[in-house]
Amino acid sequence: MTGNNFIAGQWVPVERRREVLSPANTGEVLGSIGLSAPQAAQEAVAAARKAQRGWKAMGMVNRGNLLFQAAAALEAHLDELAELATREMGKPISETRGEAMRAVAILRYYAGEGYRAVGEVIPAANPNALQYTEREPLGVVAIVTPWNFPLAIPIWKIAPALIYGNAVVFKPAEWSSLTAVRMVELIGSIFPAGVLNLILGLGTEVGEALVQHPDIDGISFTGSTGVGSHIAAVATQKGIKYQTEMGGKNPVIVAADADLDLAVEATVSGAMRSAGQKCTATSRVIVEEAIHDAFAERLTARTQSLKLGNPLEPDTYLGPVVSELQYQKVQHFISVGQQEGARLLTGDDGRAGGAPGFYIAPTIFDGVDPGATIAQEEIFGPVVGILSVQSLDEAIQVANNIRYGLSASVFTRSLATAMRFVHEIEAGLVRVNDETAGVELQAPFGGVKGSSSHSREQGRAAIEFYTHVKTVSIRAL
Ligand code: NAP
Ligand code: MG
Repeated sequence: MTGNNFIAGQWVPVERRREVLSPANTGEVLGSIGLSAPQAAQEAVAAARKAQRGWKAMGMVNRGNLLFQAAAALEAHLDELAELATREMGKPISETRGEAMRAVAILRYYAGEGYRAVGEVIPAANPNALQYTEREPLGVVAIVTPWNFPLAIPIWKIAPALIYGNAVVFKPAEWSSLTAVRMVELIGSIFPAGVLNLILGLGTEVGEALVQHPDIDGISFTGSTGVGSHIAAVATQKGIKYQTEMGGKNPVIVAADADLDLAVEATVSGAMRSAGQKCTATSRVIVEEAIHDAFAERLTARTQSLKLGNPLEPDTYLGPVVSELQYQKVQHFISVGQQEGARLLTGDDGRAGGAPGFYIAPTIFDGVDPGATIAQEEIFGPVVGILSVQSLDEAIQVANNIRYGLSASVFTRSLATAMRFVHEIEAGLVRVNDETAGVELQAPFGGVKGSSSHSREQGRAAIEFYTHVKTVSIRAL
């Protein structure tokens, strides 16, 4: 597969290229992607600017109809998209299939927005006046996405941007560029030329050129906290709207009265699916001392039973991590955990050995100090740490003692414990007796503290980012 740019409705070849290797088998070449020069950002923004007025003028209902077509186009290629995403970034096929279906559902959701009311009628002092609000698109929106949800995250930004009348320049992560290209091949020409543009290349080159471009009106970014903070500073300086969804270090609290089987299953799923490469992945399990031993034993046994292997096999629970860089980063955190004195309950047990890909055995540390590196830093791999506490008070305090605040769960049978957790936990996504990962597409998504710029994505919340409110008063003479 050959990945190029899509600008003003045309595929534009990129000269400088990089081979794409499978993370599951580094000997397998999947294709090549273009690494655009900064000039591509200029061309894509110009194309988007040119298209945006006409796109806005088309109206919500007509735009919604095109989004319905886009949903159908992706749906007709679900298996193909899932397989490509799995080959490119290593997430098991059972998960990419779900993700592809989610992308379709998101497109339908925002297509439906085209038929729903926006704005409100507000009383006016003059009875002969009509006062109401409209929603205006921002204009040209830059969309910069990570590789870990290569289908769903781009679509959950592109779909609301488009329905509300914005034109888009989309810069996917380098490590999920082929998946982005295939999606745009399927849906790009459903929209008028220039409405949806794709530019491939390095974040530090064409990504930087895009976010620095003087003629964009908003930036929606998901990725690491470092890059997100930089983008927030650039956008603030330019005086444009931005949203940055960033890292997490998500806790699960297991209270002494928890349903342990449920807590174990949800912890394993939250920590190990996608090889831990979710912003909402569980990475700290805060366990009340009374049930610590029983919980740790069951968690270890369940983790050791997971199938680590070829992500294209339907029963694989976790595949490789995305890249060599990510592999080294995660291995580094595992060594740091050991140096800092945490106890390895399970980890490098030979299961990952031999395979020519970036496989890391699911790893559990016990006796993790709340201040330890592996309890504070986002690892983004199949690694979870158990922290013991004496009480619910201490559990909440440990859970909140972190610079992140994306997602958090509690396992308990007590309504009082659940309510206290809901009120006191510092997180944007709060769950009781459910895993930290996996939020429904119609509900707002986002975090607090260092996880997010406090704006919300998904569901009806997206209108707040992708539009401005225009207050109108019409006086009858
Ligand atoms: P990343 O390194 O921050 O990259 C994200 C995107 O930004 C990529 O497209 C990247 O391009 C681009 N980029 C990098 N430097 C840039 C710059 N100077 N200017 C403009 N764009 C730039 O993150 P990642 O490694 O792809 O993804 C993992 C991270 O995403 C984790 O921290 C995870 O927690 C976070 N994440 C958060 C959420 C959430 O909703 N909160 C969801 C998923 C993931 P290149 O790929 O070419 O470098
Ligand atoms: Mg990166």
